[in-house]
Amino acid sequence: MSALLIENGVVYTADDAETVLPRGSILVVDDKIAALGAPETVAAAVAALAEPVRSELRTIDAARMMVLPGLINAHWHDMFAMGFPLRGALRPVSDRADEVAMFGGGGDMHKISGMFDSFDGLICGLTPDEGQAIAEYSMWTQLRGGVTTLGDAGSLNRPAALVAAARTLGIRFSATTWASDAICPPAADSFLRTRDADAVLSQLEELLKSCAQDESGRIRCRPSIAYVTNMTDELGRGFAELVERHDAGFVTHVGAVRNEPELMRKYYGATGVRRLHDLGLVTDRLMAAHCAFIDDEEQELLRAAGAHISHSPGKYGPSGESTLTETGVVPRLRRAGVAVSLSTDGASLPNAGMAEAMRAAWQMYNEMVADQTDVLPTDTLAMSTRIAAEGLRWSGEIGSLEVGKQADLVLIRTDDWRYLLNPRPLESFLWLGGSHDVDTVVVGGQVLLSGGGSVGVDVDELRERYLTALGSFTTRCLGVPAEVVGRILAGARR
Ligand SMILES: [Zn+2]
Repeated sequence: MSALLIENGVVYTADDAETVLPRGSILVVDDKIAALGAPETVAAAVAALAEPVRSELRTIDAARMMVLPGLINAHWHDMFAMGFPLRGALRPVSDRADEVAMFGGGGDMHKISGMFDSFDGLICGLTPDEGQAIAEYSMWTQLRGGVTTLGDAGSLNRPAALVAAARTLGIRFSATTWASDAICPPAADSFLRTRDADAVLSQLEELLKSCAQDESGRIRCRPSIAYVTNMTDELGRGFAELVERHDAGFVTHVGAVRNEPELMRKYYGATGVRRLHDLGLVTDRLMAAHCAFIDDEEQELLRAAGAHISHSPGKYGPSGESTLTETGVVPRLRRAGVAVSLSTDGASLPNAGMAEAMRAAWQMYNEMVADQTDVLPTDTLAMSTRIAAEGLRWSGEIGSLEVGKQADLVLIRTDDWRYLLNPRPLESFLWLGGSHDVDTVVVGGQVLLSGGGSVGVDVDELRERYLTALGSFTTRCLGVPAEVVGRILAGARR
């Protein structure tokens, strides 16, 4: 047995009542929270520990910190393998050389569906070692920003490499495969099948089985389909059967951009949510990512089924997407009682983290209704912890600070000018803080980050292995000349 005491912090529990302890302590024994409350109460629990455990008690002084549950990013992708081409390192440095991206202007649907379908071949091009080096660095950037649980919604990487990387870092991880079996080509009026649905399904079933063998308690599997534009009926029906049989959750992108419904009607005969519903996929297992461009009937289908929405408001503007002000659907569904959690989505380089998603929700949701009480600071936290855990179907163990739950926590310093005189440090953090302010991260009682630095993994080494893997993959599989890659990597290493 081992014990860890976190003493005297402002504790945001994110429990059902969103309880905040102005001065609280937490006792962790092994991987779980054993006591939580006023420092005097927790001190009594410490005194009651058996002698060998008590004498080796480690203590973190949180007197100048706030303590939050570990952040849960339930809609994320490892896209770091595309660090060169996808709005990445190959861009010119000129700040005014940007173009409207694929997701901008309502979405270039043919291009999006084609690109998503091409990922499978690229994943096969990654060697297992490259995949793991890229995944470790990509996941480390999430851990650095306070994420203790990552929900993969489809990555440009090998599932086995992602699972291995999560184990190396100690982060919790819900794995999936990249599933696409169709595209919507231009100058056609129906989808084109690109691979055998059964092959996609059997790859997923293998992953479900291997994750079910996990003994660490940190690895799970949740099936995902890349996008409703990339799914035949056979694949959709197969997923519906598989998630029922394995009692798993399911995640997909739907209602993401303005041009999606028209394309869906033309190529598949029905818009995204309606089609998912017809295939048996709109249930309380569903986490629907984005969901801004869905009609009234589709909104009602999601609400009636108890489906969950994952929203990434820190990301949308800079990526060309507009899922807030253009329709207002997601904040409206949240007010109607649909569970909405926050997430970062994925990009080929670090983008807005969970802290930035929280700020964006706090500012934008409230701005849209001229009501600063619509989303309270503690609501943004619940949307990033407890509600996200529910959406990931992991809420029995994680998502809030409560006795008996896993000890996944984040500590953030609150002793500089940004916090002066504000009795509510979470509010100051939303105004002026960010991912880089995370000081300490604990997963299952294990300290993974301390003083903003990694414990147990050498980040310089992690970064070097990532750059080397990215360089070899980019040269070999993406057709970028070796001298261009070499020049850019030399700049990154300086
Ligand atoms: Zn996504």
